[in-house]
Amino acid sequence: MKTFLEIYERYRTEGMDTRRIRHEQVASLVEKLPALFTVTPVGQSVESRAIYGIRAGTGATRVLLWSQMHGDESTATRALFDVFNFLAAPGEYGEVRRSILSQLDLLFIPMLNPDGAEHFRRENAWGIDINRDALRLTTPEGRILHDQILSFQPCFSFNLHDQESYYSAGVSHIPATIAFLAPPSGLRESITDNRRRAMQLIVALNRQLQPVIPGGVAKWSDAYEPRAFGEWSQAQNSATVLIESGGYYNDPERSFVRRLHFGILLEALCIIASKRYVAEPAESYFAIPCNRENGLFDTLRRQQTFIANGVSYTTDIGVRKEETFAGDFETYGALDQK
Ligand SMILES: [Zn+2]
Repeated sequence: MKTFLEIYERYRTEGMDTRRIRHEQVASLVEKLPALFTVTPVGQSVESRAIYGIRAGTGATRVLLWSQMHGDESTATRALFDVFNFLAAPGEYGEVRRSILSQLDLLFIPMLNPDGAEHFRRENAWGIDINRDALRLTTPEGRILHDQILSFQPCFSFNLHDQESYYSAGVSHIPATIAFLAPPSGLRESITDNRRRAMQLIVALNRQLQPVIPGGVAKWSDAYEPRAFGEWSQAQNSATVLIESGGYYNDPERSFVRRLHFGILLEALCIIASKRYVAEPAESYFAIPCNRENGLFDTLRRQQTFIANGVSYTTDIGVRKEETFAGDFETYGALDQK
């Protein structure tokens, strides 16, 4: 992964430097994709925007990756176009490329929720959270994903999101810059074969991330949410990995995290192509700290002394999006200071 992070700049797609990206940008990039990729429109959003399926590779192991089912979560979409640049480039790292493309059959669905992207909000144009529509299938976007999973029958699936910047990795000062989940596929916390594969892959990725963002990897709790696509996909026997891009110090547009995401996705594809995940201890997955909600502030001033009604007191002061909090923030962190 380290190498992918080092060479990232050569493959970065221009014009996607902010978190808000539009469907027309994606449409124009898709149009210009080189012949390595086969593009098929897989359907339309509520507001008639095209949703694309992008295929590459000739291998036997099918891998599906979808991004931005929440419209304001663009980091992975931006990283996917960087990954496309890497996969299509000539020259250096030919062996990596050959391994991925000869072993894997890749289907990418970037920006599953183009209307949400246009309005920069989580839900689709009807205000429905697509990630709670895996059973009822009210939304066209949810139906598209459902049908693609059923017809493609992926061995591995990647469900790519962004999370709030204020999650810390466990009880710590450290932002949960990347969070994973190998969703459960049933009410009992059973570890099916495919969930085990997802956990093994996460264990491998976490180990490689630790030197880059020490302590900065978290996992979601495995509370079962049957309406979510991760759970549903896991129940279809596809080893499903949810990856959340999170906050990092002084990274409001998630540029650093986009680079990480590029490295994670390429590394994950290499690991699957070479089947290296099989040697990983799945149980180590449970040692990854949980996402802690609101564990960070934008700014934190410790041990400030105030006087009220003639009495002096000392407290920590945390500021989050112009909201101010007072209290004991000993174990909390802030995004403007490492
Ligand atoms: Zn999301």
